[in-house]
Formats: sequence, structure tokens, C-alpha cells
Amino acid sequence: MDRRCGDCQECCILIEADIFGKPKPADVPCWNLCKKGCSIYESRPDPCREFKCFWLRGHFSEEHKPNKSGMIIWGGKGNRLCAVFKGDKPHKGLFDWLITQGLPVVIRGAGRIRFF
Ligand code: SF4
Ligand code: SF4
Repeated sequence: MDRRCGDCQECCILIEADIFGKPKPADVPCWNLCKKGCSIYESRPDPCREFKCFWLRGHFSEEHKPNKSGMIIWGGKGNRLCAVFKGDKPHKGLFDWLITQGLPVVIRGAGRIRFF
């Protein structure tokens, strides 16, 4: 399945990152983000280069694309699933999927971090 980020920029906004030694907080657009996407795309840091959310890896449906569902899911260290969501509540279908995987889950949204 060939998927592309296209008009989605959610990981550059919702996820905290280390951009060449400078911390980008969660829920704040990266200072390198412009309307067309990453303004330093060719020289972006390795973690940005390597990051692929589960939707981009071919999981879920089109409606679950992070800029439509408001939720990003990806694989963290040690077999852990990580997720962030916008607003007060996670996307129900994606949240249900997460907690039925039988893996440790870290989820952040509405200013809180929860572990399952
Ligand atoms: S959240 Fe996923 S689909 Fe959206 S820009 Fe990031 S990697 Fe691409
Ligand atoms: S450096 Fe580019 S790819 Fe990385 S978070 Fe910032 S805008 Fe996104």
C-alpha cells in the first residue's frame, strides 16, 4: 500500500522532538514547518527522517489518517505503542484498537499522559 504524508503535518506539531539539540515541545508547530511542509526537508534531523506513524506504514483506513482522526499512533521503544491525540478525547476506533493489542501503551492528550 503506497501511502504518503501529503497534506498531513501532525507529527511536526503534536510530538515533542529534538531538532539538532533544540527541544521542540509537544503540541507546538516545529519552527521549520511552513505551509508546504518542512522547510529543511532535505537536511531534516534523522529522527524526523525515520519517523513513520502506523497510518503511513499501512495500518488503518483513510479516515484514520492523523490529520483527519486527530490521533497519531506509532511504535515506541521496547514493543511499546505510543499515541497522541488532539482535543479532549482520542479517536474511539483507534483508542479501542490500541488497548486490544496486548502491548504497553503510552498515550498523551488533553495535557495528560496515561500508561496502560
Ligand atoms: S503523522 Fe504520519 S502521515 Fe502525518 S505527517 Fe507524520 S508520518 Fe506523515
Ligand atoms: S524539522 Fe521538519 S520534519 Fe522535523 S519536526 Fe520540524 S518541520 Fe517536521
